[in-house]
Amino acid sequence: VNVLVLNPGSSSLKSGFYRFPDEVPLVIAATQSSKAPTASDLIRAISGTAIDAVGVRVVHGGSRFENPAVVDDSVLAAIRELAELAPLHNPLAVGVIEEVRRELPETPIVAVFDTAFHQTLPPIAATYAVPPELGVRRYGFHGLSYSYVSKRLRALGAGPRLIVAHLGNGASVCAIRDGQSVDTSMGFTPMEGLVMGTRAGDLDPGVILYLLRKGRSEADLDDLLNHRSGLRGVSETSGDVRELEIAAAGDPKAELALDLFAYRVSKYVAAYCVALGGVDALAFTAGIGEHSAAVRRRICDRLSFLGVAVDAAANEAPRNDERRIGAGSIAVWVIPTNEEVEIGRAAFAAARPR
Ligand code: AMP
Repeated sequence: VNVLVLNPGSSSLKSGFYRFPDEVPLVIAATQSSKAPTASDLIRAISGTAIDAVGVRVVHGGSRFENPAVVDDSVLAAIRELAELAPLHNPLAVGVIEEVRRELPETPIVAVFDTAFHQTLPPIAATYAVPPELGVRRYGFHGLSYSYVSKRLRALGAGPRLIVAHLGNGASVCAIRDGQSVDTSMGFTPMEGLVMGTRAGDLDPGVILYLLRKGRSEADLDDLLNHRSGLRGVSETSGDVRELEIAAAGDPKAELALDLFAYRVSKYVAAYCVALGGVDALAFTAGIGEHSAAVRRRICDRLSFLGVAVDAAANEAPRNDERRIGAGSIAVWVIPTNEEVEIGRAAFAAARPR
């Protein structure tokens, strides 16, 4: 069974093509266009090989989607409605799904949700302390990445209590027990929790009330908190860790931004030791987690009192594979994530005739 995977993000469309059940990556021929390829470009580039199913990542599945869903009109309408909760993300998936339906009208499309992995959150982790009639709760995101990384850690024998830090442009931390999410730092939307590239993360809700009273519009606050905050807001130069690391030595604002980023991560890791009653392994993944030895060191240094001890040579070795970088009582790993293969697995399982 050949599964095409489409993972639309805010800056680009990532893709993969796999043969299941053996998960062999298949080659997509280079597309003709000079711009970043669209879903249609990719489908045309594959035209020589059968596409038996298409998996599309959808960020917000709300309370309705606890599992991958084969797309029909009602599923598509529900994903569209959930754009209310993820206005930056869900419309991208809707656009991709519509494109695939036009190009491959007979092929099953499976929507795979970033929120689904967190359906196991216990009420104490899912609840905000507000009246239930508001209908707001914590959902959590980056579920495909956490699902992939926790399976890898299980295969590596890392133990039952895991804390995974998915540190990319969007960033979150997840506490995982026996393969199940028990707490995570993003909540109702992907804005809660860590300092991100351009998102503020945790913020006193009083700040928002204050800015509203000062006459800021909803659109302005949306842009401020999603696009002009986080590393970019604090540094006043860039939301990109690589650029900040180059600037940090001579730029106190870049230095503060990186330190604040790491400080927030380390506080969440310590908090999730409470959620798990201790921890067996800490793992880093995504762009920053996989590639920035300096950010990993900043985070782990603050956690040394817990028994986190990073081996400097292992941490700094220029490698891109799975590796253990900690020699302390809590194992520290770098695990490159692979959301695409995880989407493919889910699409293969959901599209398979029963
Ligand atoms: P992602 O959203 O997972 O693609 O991660 C993007 C983030 O990873 C950006 O902040 C990049 O600056 C950061 N990143 C990627 N490669 C490196 C690197 N070699 N060193 C430091 N940061 C990196």
